[in-house]
Amino acid sequence: MTVELQFIGGASCSGSGAPLSIIEPATGAEIASGAGANAADVEAAVSAARDAFGDWAARTPGARSDIMHEWARLLRERAGELAAVESANAGKPIRLASEFDVPGTIDNTAFFAGAARHLEGKASAEYSGDHTSSIRREPLGVIGSIAPWNYPLQMAAWKILPAVAAGNTVVLKPSELTPMSSLLFARAAVDAGVPPGVVNILTGTGGEAGQPLVEHPGVAMVSFTGSTGVGRRVAATAAGAVKRVHLELGGKAPFVVFDDADLEAAARGAVAGALINAGQDCTAATRAYVQRPLFEEFVGRVADLMDQVRLGPVSDPETDMGSLISRAHRDKVMGMVERARESGAKIVRGGRIPDHTPEAGAYFEPTLITGAAQHSEIVQQEIFGPVLVVLPFDTDDEAIELANDTPYGLAASAWSRGVYRTQRASREIRAGCVWINDHIPIVSEMPHGGYKSSGFGKDMSAYAFDEYTNIKHVMSDITAVARKPWHEVIFRAE
Ligand code: NDP
Repeated sequence: MTVELQFIGGASCSGSGAPLSIIEPATGAEIASGAGANAADVEAAVSAARDAFGDWAARTPGARSDIMHEWARLLRERAGELAAVESANAGKPIRLASEFDVPGTIDNTAFFAGAARHLEGKASAEYSGDHTSSIRREPLGVIGSIAPWNYPLQMAAWKILPAVAAGNTVVLKPSELTPMSSLLFARAAVDAGVPPGVVNILTGTGGEAGQPLVEHPGVAMVSFTGSTGVGRRVAATAAGAVKRVHLELGGKAPFVVFDDADLEAAARGAVAGALINAGQDCTAATRAYVQRPLFEEFVGRVADLMDQVRLGPVSDPETDMGSLISRAHRDKVMGMVERARESGAKIVRGGRIPDHTPEAGAYFEPTLITGAAQHSEIVQQEIFGPVLVVLPFDTDDEAIELANDTPYGLAASAWSRGVYRTQRASREIRAGCVWINDHIPIVSEMPHGGYKSSGFGKDMSAYAFDEYTNIKHVMSDITAVARKPWHEVIFRAE
């Protein structure tokens, strides 16, 4: 079915770039096809966003908030359609789409509808004695946002909502593999009363649409979520024009289990944390470090739980784990597992393409690995698949050191009944989020973002406003004196 894959100035339209085929990863079937975006479409979208900026930025926070509340209401009304589209396009089980992606997005929209009225700064005061200083928080202009394929709807929401709540306008380039829910999200915005041009979607490849968007002089800031490698290139391009950049990059979350942990809770948490979205989650539990007395029992329990995970059609509510995003990505994951095996690691479970799922789909078995070396690829590099590596440790010092021993720092968890151990882990693990006795939950009120090579800047929460606003200091003389004492420092003319 040919469809219009662009959304510019409040209307769907066709792109001017190369044809794109949108595939259902679980079956290999085509969902839709259409023309992708290129530099000409970037021009049109940025121009629509610039035209919309003045009016949107000038609206009162209350007016923006009302419209965004209506946006959240429409998303709630369309939740079933959104979940079905997200599940098919991203290969994720309908249960995950219906109970995580869509409600999370609705909650985020409602949160930013409220937060739009709470942009904060310092209280005004007379710091010099002769002036009143006050702070204005002002929107930047057009935000160029680039998103990955793993949580297409939530990523669109995380990028668009804080930006528009603060009065900016946005041109979002989703991954060209998964544009369908972003297009529905933008349509709902316009139906709710968001003026045309405030939210624009460009479906295109990184080369044809992403790069020109980052380079465009009309784009004030680039907000990027994706891999560390591409993020580095995006930041380098933006640096040339001294553009503000927000980078949410890869992760390699450690999952630290101390010997006083609740083993059943930790094993269940590890399976859920490693297999959510088939492991294609930047905060997924990927490296479990387990204190030696619990090691064998932990591995056995995780293996037992992984055996019970049901792979199947993504539209079946009984399916636990869906497909990976593409067969090319599945082959990359399988290659990493194979190299781990060749270098002496033990594949305790999985590591193969399952035999009962569609051949044209991109399924991969839940995989459990032990015996890998800390410095090996499988422990150091992002896999982005349903793979958990478990390694033993002896002392608490060693656990913290191993947890910090990758270039990434997005998320981590620590499992213990001891308050001093969990306090130490939360203080010393260098990551943007540390969970204690859990792994994965997120809330709209709290920020998400990385340390180290996982990037900088925050998505979600009121902290996101720091990315999407300029802070202006206004200093007003309150003396009405023409000859000010401080002038004498510079000149003494009568
Ligand atoms: P990529 O880095 O490959 O791509 C991300 C986006 O950038 C895509 O839309 C891509 O388009 C685009 N892009 C590629 N090249 C350029 C370019 N030169 N200029 C501008 N844009 C470009 O990541 P994936 O899509 O493979 O997503 C997986 C990655 O995302 C993982 O590393 C994961 O950790 C990370 N991620 C991080 C999150 C976080 O919050 N920290 C959350 C979710 C994912 P195209 O599709 O054409 O390549």
